[in-house]
Amino acid sequence: MNHDCAGHNNQTLDDALAEIKLEKTISDFTYKIIVLSGKGGVGKSTTAANIAMSLALSGRSVGLLDIDFHGPSIPRLMGMENKKAEARDGSLIPLSYGEKLKVMSLGLLLQDERQAVIWRGPMKMGAIKQLLQDVEWGKLDYLIVDCPPGTGDEPLSIVQLLKNPTGAVVVTQPQELSLADVRRSISFCAQLNLPVLGVLENMSGFICPHCGETVDIFKSGGGEKLAQAMQVPFLGKIPIDPTIVQAGDNGEPFIYFYAKTETAAIFNRITAELQDRIEKQDDVKKV
Ligand code: ADP
Repeated sequence: MNHDCAGHNNQTLDDALAEIKLEKTISDFTYKIIVLSGKGGVGKSTTAANIAMSLALSGRSVGLLDIDFHGPSIPRLMGMENKKAEARDGSLIPLSYGEKLKVMSLGLLLQDERQAVIWRGPMKMGAIKQLLQDVEWGKLDYLIVDCPPGTGDEPLSIVQLLKNPTGAVVVTQPQELSLADVRRSISFCAQLNLPVLGVLENMSGFICPHCGETVDIFKSGGGEKLAQAMQVPFLGKIPIDPTIVQAGDNGEPFIYFYAKTETAAIFNRITAELQDRIEKQDDVKKV
């Protein structure tokens, strides 16, 4: 078959240029962390947003990319719900939160994000590619990617596009029902050779504001046991904290607005340990 037509050649040239642009963009990211969860509503986006914010507050330059097309919650959690990203010279400008944190989500682009509901695999792959290569991320110490729950097209696409991501953080709730899905997330990582940086157990226990006693509403310790059983690191437990819900609903990034709370301290501790481990490991590799 003759493929010499001008249209076909342009297509290949466009593809080649896009590939170069993508490679250049990705080479500007030092560490790439993918935040996964087995199912929805376990606090994955909350975790992604707070890890990103904690890293930014510690002085790292951070990009927070939301690829949960069917329910992008990062704009709401970051107080950007009514904002839109702008295009300049053919590139999209991410929204900034302070000097160190850049944010991009389909929710910051589409007038009506429900448009994405009917998207199928290849369209999602194309959109994720654009959210990498067409966004002015600049040089980042960390790219944090908030995926939709499960092990579908989006996590698969982002792992492939980022080539060798640093690893995944898997968020779960402590109860058995949630844990079954986490096993699938961990197997997904294993199949893709994506290191599991750790399991984080969210909504683990509730500290009664009246008596200070801890009540294990969704049980506690399930994520920790599972991490042990599957031989992946355990990152820690975040308690149920009504302030997290309030902050999320008000568009106030939790650890920024409630920096003095015990829960914010836990988030910061978990992030600092994660960061330490990633950066130290990298130092070892460089030696
Ligand atoms: P996911 O991304 O897994 O769907 P979200 O991060 O959107 O989950 O969180 C779902 C809901 O649970 C939100 O209303 C959020 O504020 C709330 N939430 C998340 N983590 C906690 C927590 N540790 N304590 C109380 N509420 C939480």
